Amino acid sequence: MIISKRAGNWYISFKYDEGPTPTAKQGDIIGVDVGINALATCSDGTTYANVKAYKQAKKRLSRYQRRVKKKELGSKNRAKAIKKLARLHKKVADIRADALHKLTTWASFKPQHHSDRKLECKWNAEKAVRPRDDDSSLAERAPRDHKLASAIADCGFYEFKRQLSYKCECYGSQLVIAPRFYPSSQICSQCGHQQKMPLHKRTYECSNCGFEADRDFNAAINLKNYVNQ
Ligand SMILES: [Zn+2]
Repeated sequence: MIISKRAGNWYISFKYDEGPTPTAKQGDIIGVDVGINALATCSDGTTYANVKAYKQAKKRLSRYQRRVKKKELGSKNRAKAIKKLARLHKKVADIRADALHKLTTWASFKPQHHSDRKLECKWNAEKAVRPRDDDSSLAERAPRDHKLASAIADCGFYEFKRQLSYKCECYGSQLVIAPRFYPSSQICSQCGHQQKMPLHKRTYECSNCGFEADRDFNAAINLKNYVNQ
């Protein structure tokens, strides 16, 4: 059990054991596309939207930061403004952590009751983003593409992967991360044809077989199929 104090609030955290409730078998593998518009799109059709409260709180954050700067150094008002800012900082971090934990718990838990227990996931490396060889934190990349302003983008792929890894282990699921340059958004999940997909295109329209689907959903199915290749 850990008791801690952050930004004037007390927190208690502890572990408890609770057996999972079995769910109906839906599929062996689940593909998760971690994206730009949505927090995540899954091959079973589940989507996790970016948290609105998070966006709003972040806007307020820059306003509070400006306020602190305007106050006189060493003044009581400045101290007050700093305290307010610290509290909001914590709130933003809490909203982000909550969204991320909900997603990673769901994603790692989901395949547990299925025979194969595989979770396929890939960080969405789009062409607009300068390619990197490693899975380094997205925080480094975010300023180059403002569209990546999601809770995951702010904490970095590293934290997302860290949570997924330990939760998958805990639930007995297998985590597979596709290589960064695997073109999950360019491949047609129905016929395998590959075509260019500029960032603004939200719908995948296959020029070969005519298949149409939401861009991220198509990518999630490709990631699901990737494991079987
Ligand atoms: Zn096709």
